[in-house]
Amino acid sequence: MASPPTAPRRCGPCQACCTAYPIEGLLEESPRWVPCHHRKAQGCSVYPRRPDGCATFRCAWLDGWGSEGQRPDLLGLLVEFLPARPRIGLGERAIATELAPQAAARGDAREALRTLHAAGRAVYLVPYRARGFETLGRPWPAPG
Ligand code: SF4
Ligand code: SF4
Repeated sequence: MASPPTAPRRCGPCQACCTAYPIEGLLEESPRWVPCHHRKAQGCSVYPRRPDGCATFRCAWLDGWGSEGQRPDLLGLLVEFLPARPRIGLGERAIATELAPQAAARGDAREALRTLHAAGRAVYLVPYRARGFETLGRPWPAPG
């Protein structure tokens, strides 16, 4: 298991969620899988006045999950933890979104998925360029 980071993490050059996720407040401008037009090589060009959805979103890595090398842009997976929703029968879930075609088939990504699964959360894999959050991906590993 990875050691917890000693200092709060920063996104650095990662802008994975600026492409893979539609950000609240930018939905019309930045639908899923279209890079937000505020993305620049040096980072977000509107960072001080970015929408609330951008400012409040924290992927699992930013909150301390995994190693430094498992930052989403490096791992090829954007992992988000969702809390349990017992009223509709859902436990804690890890949603892993592929950031490139077949990203989950890479050895380091598969190891990350195994680690998430072993930790006891239900793991769902969202294929690269899948539309719609409501599906929350396919169970990983596949049942059967
Ligand atoms: S995916 Fe995570 S680390 Fe990358 S920019 Fe978004 S919040 Fe930051
Ligand atoms: S406004 Fe900035 S932080 Fe928000 S999605 Fe666009 S580039 Fe990313």
